[in-house]
Amino acid sequence: MPTTEYDLVHGTLRSYPQQQRPGWDEYFLGIATAVAARGDCLRSQVGAVLVGGDHRIRATGYNGSEPGGPSCLRGECARCQSQVPAGTAYDECVETHAEANALLHAAWSDCQGATLYITRPPCQGCSKLIRSAGIDHVLWPQGALSFTQEVA
Ligand SMILES: [Zn+2]
Ligand SMILES: [Zn+2]
Repeated sequence: MPTTEYDLVHGTLRSYPQQQRPGWDEYFLGIATAVAARGDCLRSQVGAVLVGGDHRIRATGYNGSEPGGPSCLRGECARCQSQVPAGTAYDECVETHAEANALLHAAWSDCQGATLYITRPPCQGCSKLIRSAGIDHVLWPQGALSFTQEVA
């Protein structure tokens, strides 16, 4: 029975030859794609998976507001109901980004030297959170970032 592999270029799962299996990056990006399906936004659904150096998942997150809060998919987000250009006016959005939701469910020690797998490049705000949390590597389907931890 063929298994599946994450296609880094097209952001989809594809079949994989028998007796082979995906590498760690393909494995966790595939999981991030599954997590993104829970994203509560009309504009984009994003998934994040926080993984320790031992290749164990510490936390997951998708974009959405607080539990019981407004839903973008139900038309309750003023930003996404307006015509603002992509990547702007995040302050007017009701949602917490996927990366931030994953970090909120992780302990500080989980983040040290960890890798965050996400389904799209991080925004500037999330990049700051990721660096401040002590995460070393960020990886998404078409790119990656590495932060060296130099504490003076
Ligand atoms: Zn939205
Ligand atoms: Zn963000």
